[in-house]
Amino acid sequence: MRSISIFGATGSIGESTFDLITRAGGAGAFRTVALTGGRNVARLAEMARVLRAEIAVCADEACLPDLRAALAGTGIETAAGTQAIAEAADRPADWVMSAIVGAAGLVPGLRALRHGRTLALANKESLVTAGPLLMAEAARHGATILPVDSEHSAIFQGLVGEDIAAIDRIILTASGGALRDWPLEALARATVTEALAHPNWSMGQRITIDSASMFNKALEVIETREYFGINPDQIEVIIHPESLIHSMVGFHDGAIMAHLGAPDMRHPIGYALNWPNRQPLPVARLDFAQLATLTFRAPDMNRYPALRLCREVMHIRGLAGAAFNAAKETALDYFLDNRIGFMDMAGVVEDTLDALVSDLRLETDVLSLEKVLGADHLARRRATEIAQNRSAA
Ligand code: NDP
Repeated sequence: MRSISIFGATGSIGESTFDLITRAGGAGAFRTVALTGGRNVARLAEMARVLRAEIAVCADEACLPDLRAALAGTGIETAAGTQAIAEAADRPADWVMSAIVGAAGLVPGLRALRHGRTLALANKESLVTAGPLLMAEAARHGATILPVDSEHSAIFQGLVGEDIAAIDRIILTASGGALRDWPLEALARATVTEALAHPNWSMGQRITIDSASMFNKALEVIETREYFGINPDQIEVIIHPESLIHSMVGFHDGAIMAHLGAPDMRHPIGYALNWPNRQPLPVARLDFAQLATLTFRAPDMNRYPALRLCREVMHIRGLAGAAFNAAKETALDYFLDNRIGFMDMAGVVEDTLDALVSDLRLETDVLSLEKVLGADHLARRRATEIAQNRSAA
């Protein structure tokens, strides 16, 4: 029986993964090793019961008594804290879903790779902060990383049987997020609720705001560079409001392979779950006769400074990805708390990067976990100071 673990089980990707696992037979078809969550222990316990998991782990130690109470008498082990989540990744599982949000997903994913597992990677922050390290560890330990981000799954599928050297360009599609049709001058006043009203995708809160600011796409540009190893200038971004083309690969001979489908994350998750095969999935089928048009437009760089900043990050390399992501996460926290405006997020990230670049704090030839975590910590401290100044202004 195949064994699985889901890190970030209680989130949007985690729920979709749980849905696919239960539809595919649940505890009768899979041996569930570890399920982890942050604070939503009621849902975590429910999932652990349904899948008869070996262990359920919550990140927040204060939630452990509730998790224990909810699983009392089931024989399911419980634990809490960052270290316990990392240790859960040491437990043998054939397939591991990495769907914790933010840099907190890096260590468990890395530990799973060091055990040679197949890692379904939704946590794009891992590749942004420590791409070269992750790819090197996967190669060293014979592990497989399967992309779960819909764009990267689309590219991955477009490359089946192809020579990576034949790639001319990769075109990442972007919905443009909730605020894509707002006038530029109104963006500074956008509220959290307005930025959360995503037109096409139902996702976690943080990635939904990141879609509106295009920080999500900026992370994905870096993710593309790290995962597929192509030059930054071969990666393009195009706004495609319908979100039906999930991304495209252009080849030297002029051919372009586009991946189309309904905007439902159960497709890329299911593809990673069944890879290298395909299995029927519960996603809507496109009806081309009903589709009116597919539209595209170039992103306006004044609206989306994140798309410019990610180019700088790829130019600097080293620890710039870790600093970029950490500053972005800090700025997002401040926006979610209504302490800075929507457009201030990019300002905080840019000022943080500038400060750390001028101190030469981001340079390194060899990426280690310690250096990445150090840069993450430093960038969060710096970004907090900068965000505080902005919120006081
Ligand atoms: P959610 O916010 O919906 O879920 C995040 C998960 O991580 C929850 O299980 C949450 O627990 C847990 N969590 C939060 N903080 C911590 C922490 N510090 N330590 C351990 N666990 C924690 O996020 P999404 O599912 O939307 O996104 C997950 C990842 O997948 C992100 O990296 C995102 O960029 C990526 N992704 C998401 C897509 C989507 O459609 N949602 C699409 C493509 C990529 P709890 O809720 O119990 O507190």
